[in-house]
Amino acid sequence: MVRRSDDALILRRFRFGESSLIVHVATAEHGRLHLLAKGAYRPTARFYAALDLFDTLHLDWQESPGRDLSNLHAATIVTRRHRIAFDLERYRAALTVLELVDLVLQSGSNNAELFSLSRSALDQLASAVEPAQVLIEFELAFLQNLGLGPALLECASCAGPAPASGPRGAPRAAFSAQCGGRLCADCAAEARAIGRRVGTLPEAILREAARLAPQAASQSSAAPAEVSLLHVRDAVARFVEYQLQGRPKSYRTFLQAPQRNAP
Ligand SMILES: [Zn+2]
Repeated sequence: MVRRSDDALILRRFRFGESSLIVHVATAEHGRLHLLAKGAYRPTARFYAALDLFDTLHLDWQESPGRDLSNLHAATIVTRRHRIAFDLERYRAALTVLELVDLVLQSGSNNAELFSLSRSALDQLASAVEPAQVLIEFELAFLQNLGLGPALLECASCAGPAPASGPRGAPRAAFSAQCGGRLCADCAAEARAIGRRVGTLPEAILREAARLAPQAASQSSAAPAEVSLLHVRDAVARFVEYQLQGRPKSYRTFLQAPQRNAP
C-alpha cells in the first residue's frame, strides 16, 4: 500500500452502499483515479461535505497495487466554486468541461495540461466571464491538447491561404470537420471528389474562433468580431462532436437546435 496525495477535480460520483461514495477524479499529477470514499455520508468522515463537483480538492489516498479502486483517506477543499451551482448556464457549462475531461482521460493516463485547462475554465465559470466564451476557449484548448485543433485561418490540408468568398458583407469559407477545418478552394474540391463532407462557415465566425483559440495569445489585441458567441460555439461544438465521434450528453440540448451557421 502506498500513500499518495494530489489536487483533484471530481468527474463523476456514484453512491455506493448505505453511506459510501465512489468518485472518479482527474488529478494534477496522477491522471485519472477511481476512489472509494467509505462512509462519505457520515458526519464523522474526514471528507464529509468536501466531495462536491466543480471544487478543486486536495485528496489523500491509499493505492493498492493491482486494484483499480483506491481508498480515499482524506479530502480538503482547495478552491470552492460556490457560484457555479447557483446559475443554470454556468452550471451546465461546468458540467460540459467535466464531461469532456471524463470522455478522454483514461484510467492510468496522465494529462497535466488538461487538468490545468479544466481548472482554469472552472475558475472562469465561477467569475463574471460569459459562460459561452469560457466554453469556446476551453473546447478549442481541449482539442489542441488532443492534437485535434481545427484550422481556422489557413487551409487544413495544404496550410496555404484559404480565402472566403460569397456575397459582400457575408463571405463564407469551405470547412470540413473530416478534413480538420477550413479548406482552400482546391483542397475543398479534392475533398468533395473523394466523398468527404465539406460545408461552409461564415468568415466572421472562423475569425472569432481563431481569436479565442489558445495559440492566438499574440493576436489577442484584435477587436472581437460582431458575431454571436452562440454561433461560434455552434461551430466549435460540432467540430468537437465530430472529433469525439459522438455527441457528449451535455451538448444535446445545445446542438439539437438547427445549425446556427447554415447558409
Ligand atoms: Zn488547401
